[in-house]
Amino acid sequence: ELQFFFPREHTLALIKPDAAKKHKDDIMQKVKDAGFVISKIKEEALTREMAIQFYKDHEGKPFFNQLVTCMTEGPSVIMVLTKENAVEDWRQLMGPTDPEVAKETSPESIRAQFAQDILSNAVHGSSDREHALSSIECIFGEIDIN
Ligand code: ADP
Ligand code: MG
Repeated sequence: ELQFFFPREHTLALIKPDAAKKHKDDIMQKVKDAGFVISKIKEEALTREMAIQFYKDHEGKPFFNQLVTCMTEGPSVIMVLTKENAVEDWRQLMGPTDPEVAKETSPESIRAQFAQDILSNAVHGSSDREHALSSIECIFGEIDIN
């Protein structure tokens, strides 16, 4: 069992409202097939305050208001995913931000297969381990995950 040499890592993954409505089962299947353990999961609409906090690095960008609106328009599926190298591997499975790029470079990715456009691009994932821990704490109120 190589698990011993490769410590588990957590990331915050989220199926955005539009995709949660249309493609939840297909996306969940890809999560499981890729070997992620779903350590925590809840379905809940983000409040505006949560969405702003979540994307605070993008405040001031021209798409920021649209982004907050699309993230709060219905329930998201919010998960803590756990495996070795979870942060990077989940970004890999998501694919590039723009689904047109995703279709070119990673046709098996979630965004290539299920994103509507660059704004409604199906999923979110933490960009690094620090962001992962702070969003897990923000959403689930704790960071002690078994
Ligand atoms: P990622 O989600 O791949 O980490 P970013 O952190 O750059 O991408 O952007 C956060 C989110 O903002 C994206 O997932 C997408 O919903 C939205 N977004 C990014 N760039 C654009 C854009 N040019 N036009 C509209 N929405 C965008
Ligand atoms: Mg990002």
